Amino acid sequence: MAPRDLTSALRGASLRVTRPRLAVLGAVHDHPHADTDTVIRLVRAELGAVSHQAVYDVLRALTDAGLLRRIQPAGATARYEARVGDNHHHAVCRSCGAIADVDCAVGHTPCLTVSEGHGFVVDEAEVVYWGTCPECATAPDPTMIDAAGRTL
Ligand SMILES: [Zn+2]
Ligand SMILES: [Zn+2]
Repeated sequence: MAPRDLTSALRGASLRVTRPRLAVLGAVHDHPHADTDTVIRLVRAELGAVSHQAVYDVLRALTDAGLLRRIQPAGATARYEARVGDNHHHAVCRSCGAIADVDCAVGHTPCLTVSEGHGFVVDEAEVVYWGTCPECATAPDPTMIDAAGRTL
């Protein structure tokens, strides 16, 4: 995303434009589903010394402003993405933690029709598809390799 677009995104959300905010927003745009450590590394590569706390604060401000979406699959660290507002879902690899976007089922959305709603008015369904990513699916299973490195 061009710096000019990042600037107008911040302005559009009524946020003051600062270099850390530009760097964090740009990093997440370029690295969807980055975790906090990754964002800190990317921002430091661009700006030099930036404290963890400063990056946490910026991530929270951008998420509160709706410019970033925070996702946290069970048992995983929080991830951030700049694809907001479309309620897409995620596929998560149990083996390596890779995350991929999955578009919400279009048209009829049965996941929003709760079979037993307990009286709740439902406006969003958060779906996580757990499984194995293509890379892990084709990698040899480490438990199937003997001490000499031969496949059993
Ligand atoms: Zn994987
Ligand atoms: Zn996503």
